[in-house]
Amino acid sequence: MRVDGAWRRRAGTQAVCAALTVAGYRALFVGGCVRNALLGAEVADVDIATDALPETVTELAEKAGLKVVPTGIDHGTVTVVSGGIPHEVTTFRHDIDTDGRHATVSYTTDPAEDAARRDFTMNALYATPEGEVIDPLGGLDDLRARRVRFVGCAEERIREDYLRILRFFRFHAWYGDPSEGLDPEGLAACAENLDGLARLSKERIGAEMRKLLSAPDPATAVGPMHVIGVLSAILPGADPLALGPLLHLEGDRPPRFLRRLAVLGGREEADALRLSRVESRDLGRVRDEIGGTAGAGELGYRLGATLAEDVILCRAALLESPLPGGWRSDIARGAAAVLPVRAADLPDLQGPEIGAALRRIEARWIASGFTLDRDALLGDG
Ligand code: ATP
Ligand code: MG
Repeated sequence: MRVDGAWRRRAGTQAVCAALTVAGYRALFVGGCVRNALLGAEVADVDIATDALPETVTELAEKAGLKVVPTGIDHGTVTVVSGGIPHEVTTFRHDIDTDGRHATVSYTTDPAEDAARRDFTMNALYATPEGEVIDPLGGLDDLRARRVRFVGCAEERIREDYLRILRFFRFHAWYGDPSEGLDPEGLAACAENLDGLARLSKERIGAEMRKLLSAPDPATAVGPMHVIGVLSAILPGADPLALGPLLHLEGDRPPRFLRRLAVLGGREEADALRLSRVESRDLGRVRDEIGGTAGAGELGYRLGATLAEDVILCRAALLESPLPGGWRSDIARGAAAVLPVRAADLPDLQGPEIGAALRRIEARWIASGFTLDRDALLGDG
C-alpha cells in the first residue's frame, strides 16, 4: 500500500526526512497526514516519527541547515522548519505513566510500540519518505471502513487521557461513516468516564470543540454526545435539536464553528471553550438577534454580512421556518449601506437631541430598504 500527494514530495519535507535517514535513522510520516492522504482529504500538517532522540534530531536538522524549534521537547517533539513548512518530529515513544492528562514518556526504537500509545487505529498509520505505508495495528482496515476505533482497550485509553473522549467524537465527525454510527465499545467507554472531562483544561476542550464543530457534518457526532451526556458536561444547557436543520440550511457554505455553536444554545460557552474576545462578542450579538425581529437588510447593516448570515440561518433552523425570500441580497445591500446623514447635517439640534434624531432617521432609512437619500431623510424628519 502506498500513499502519495504533493505534501509528501515537497523538497522541504523530503529534506527533513533525508537529514534523519542519511544518518541511519528512520523518518516515518504518521498521524493525520497519512490518514488524510489515504482518504484523499486535505493534508494540513506533517508529523514525522523517528527513532532518533530529540537532541539528535536537533543536531542533524541544524547540520542540514534547517531551523529547529523545541516546541514539545518534554514529550519528544521538535519542530523542524524546512521550505517554510513546520514539521513536527517526534521520537518513537511509549507512555509509561499517565494521570489522565500528562504522560511520562520513555523513548523506543520500535514503531509498533509508538503506535500502541496513539489514540485511534486510523491515527496509527505510518509511511516511509517514499510513501510505503506501515500499519502496525490494522488501522488500514478501520480507515477503509471509516471506523474510529481506540487502540487497545477504549476504557483504559480514555483513563490515560480524557481528551480522547472528545477526539473520538471529533474524528468520527470528520472521518467516520455517518451511516454506521460510532464504535459501540468506544461510545460505552466514553459514557462510563464522563467525570474525567472536568479534569481537562478549558483550552484543550475549546480547541477540540472548535475542530469538531468545523467538520462538514458534525451532527453525527454531536447527537450521540448529547445522548450520553458529553455535551452537557462541557456546554451546560446546550441542545443539538436545531443543528441538523442548520446544516441542511447551510447548504455548501463553508462550515463556521461559531454559527454551529450559536445554534446549540447553552450557557457561558465563552468561558467553557475559552473563546477569544472577538468570538464571544460575535456569539453574543448573533444570539441576541436570533430571538429578535430585525430583518436581513438591517442585520447586514448592523452586524456585517457574515454574522447576519449566521443569524438568518440559525433563526430559521431554530424556528423551523423557511429562509426569508431575497435574504442574501438584502444582507449584501445592508452590509454595503452607509447612512447618508451625519450629525453635521442637523445644525439646529443640540446634545442628546442629535443622537435621538439620527436614530429616527436611521430607522426610516432602514425601513426604506436603504433607498431614501439625504434630502429625503432631512426633508420631513
Ligand atoms: P489533525 O491535525 O487533522 O487534527 P491529527 O491526527 O494530525 O489530525 P493531531 O492532534 O495533530 O491529530 O495529532 C497527531 C497524532 O498524534 C495523531 O494522529 C495521534 O496519532 C497522536 N495523538 C495526538 N493526540 C493524542 C492523544 N491525546 N492521545 C493519543 N494520541 C494522540
Ligand atoms: Mg496533526
